[in-house]
Amino acid sequence: MITDTSHSLFEKAKSYIPGGVNSPVRAFKAVGGNPLFIKSAKGPYLYDEDGNRYLELINSWGPMILGHAHELIEKAVKDAVSSSLSFGAPTRKEVEMAELITHMVPSIEKVRMVNSGTEATMSAIRLARGYTGRAKIIKFEGCYHGHGDSFLIAAGSGAVTTGVPDSAGVTKGTANDTLTAPFNDLQAVQTLADANKGNIAAIIVEPVAGNMGLVLPQPGFLEGLRQLCTKEGIVLVFDEVMTGFRLAKGGVQERLGVLPDITTLGKIIGGGMPVGAYGGKKEIMDFVSPVGPVYQAGTLSGNPIAMSAGLAMLHYLNTHPEVYTQLENIGNKLVSGFTENLKKLGLSYTINHIGSMFSIFFTDKPVVDFDSAKTSDTVLFGKYFQAMLNKGIYLAPSQYESLFLSTALTDEHIQTILQANYESLEEIL
Ligand code: PLP
Repeated sequence: MITDTSHSLFEKAKSYIPGGVNSPVRAFKAVGGNPLFIKSAKGPYLYDEDGNRYLELINSWGPMILGHAHELIEKAVKDAVSSSLSFGAPTRKEVEMAELITHMVPSIEKVRMVNSGTEATMSAIRLARGYTGRAKIIKFEGCYHGHGDSFLIAAGSGAVTTGVPDSAGVTKGTANDTLTAPFNDLQAVQTLADANKGNIAAIIVEPVAGNMGLVLPQPGFLEGLRQLCTKEGIVLVFDEVMTGFRLAKGGVQERLGVLPDITTLGKIIGGGMPVGAYGGKKEIMDFVSPVGPVYQAGTLSGNPIAMSAGLAMLHYLNTHPEVYTQLENIGNKLVSGFTENLKKLGLSYTINHIGSMFSIFFTDKPVVDFDSAKTSDTVLFGKYFQAMLNKGIYLAPSQYESLFLSTALTDEHIQTILQANYESLEEIL
């Protein structure tokens, strides 16, 4: 495969952009080789600057749940552009968006739109602090909640992939206010809560964690967090930036039946445009300015183009429940094919899977938290990644990421992916 144009673009990019990329994990640092520069995408395919075509399993890190360039979303954006780009004033679409989100996500009564998942989580934490009058938060090792200072402590995703789970530049004071516990370890959370009684504003969790690879909550974990938060007056924040509208129409909270106080959203909610949101109980959301004392604002928040893309996406998902059945089927077929291949070739592996998200870990340990995820053979993963890429299959360039499926994958695509998977595994043995 010739990738000379990507290569020379990357060389040039490094002169003008730190590391040549606008988000660290894109640099392929963990898997070797140069990143591909993508020119266009359609359905399940990405096309790079050299004209190579890739079947892909990332979907822009989650948003493109219907595949790339879906006609309904493209049309919504084109129509919106014809009415200009931004007004900095309220619009009808924002009201429709808020109404639809509160209808779809079980625990949300009021919602505020922002421009990214990071803004959503930062704002949710400020709100939890303002509402409770407390300072500390608990997060889980290996969970990633965007790049707000409070979250870059034992962080997953690109932070761990690029070797900075505890970022430089975060003050000691901020770091001291973030307490961390292993994912799935209720006892550790209880111990932190007891030691910091009356001081914990929020527990923030990816209810299905996707940023240390995919890690599922064990039975009772989310329920236990809910009980603890209710008992101690702690605000429970579900970060559903990845899982919202993906694992069910109403996210993990609908699928697993545990309701948080605040939910953060991103990715799918923008249909591919930069959007985030945070929402929850009226009583809490009414602490946000201009009604309440917690300030949060945004020049481009609720931007009409972004709202149009997101609304088209959410309307479609809301009225087409078969999307979720389709995604379950695609996920099941891929995971059973991958499992069969791994078994046939005798590799050590663990696959974690739910709906349209899954991860293959090159370890024989069950992966239930950050420490067990880190037992994976990341060198082997890098080889596997490159072997798949050479066969035209584009995966997340890190062991510590989930794959995201879209409805654009047909049985034929699935067969192509499974064949490439078998050959790639055989090569790296
Ligand atoms: N929360 C979770 C669970 C995420 O996976 C991410 C990004 O991947 C974020 C928050 C941050 O979102 P953004 O990259 O839009 O700022």
